[in-house]
Amino acid sequence: MYDEHNIFAKILRGEIPCDKVSENDSYLAFKDINPQADVHVLVIPKGAYVSLDDFTSKASDEEILGFWRGVRSVADQIGVIGAGFRIVANHGANANQEVPHFHVHVLGGQNLKGLLPG
Ligand code: AMP
Repeated sequence: MYDEHNIFAKILRGEIPCDKVSENDSYLAFKDINPQADVHVLVIPKGAYVSLDDFTSKASDEEILGFWRGVRSVADQIGVIGAGFRIVANHGANANQEVPHFHVHVLGGQNLKGLLPG
């Protein structure tokens, strides 16, 4: 069940501000408020989807294509494609997903070391 009161839903409705990178009909990209790398941008679909599973099972082909092309475009805009970057999508409890609106973290600007801490 999608929670209309989650913080990314409020950002999408313009109720709270974000440090926007770019957007189009399919996605909104903004800087993470608590960056975990020198470059850390979040990309979210405009539609109301809780998670990767919710998005990829329920969104239209057009939404899915637009979103992933958006992720690629954002990576290009923030200049991480050449040097390399990582995308992360936390899903559910074991991944400690904090915000229940599907999002992809785009991380870069430095060597990101191993996939998991420790
Ligand atoms: P996750 O654990 O994958 O759900 O990550 C949620 C991310 O959202 C975290 O990295 C937070 O720092 C980030 N975040 C939470 N609130 C905001 C906000 N208002 N603006 C930007 N990023 C946020």
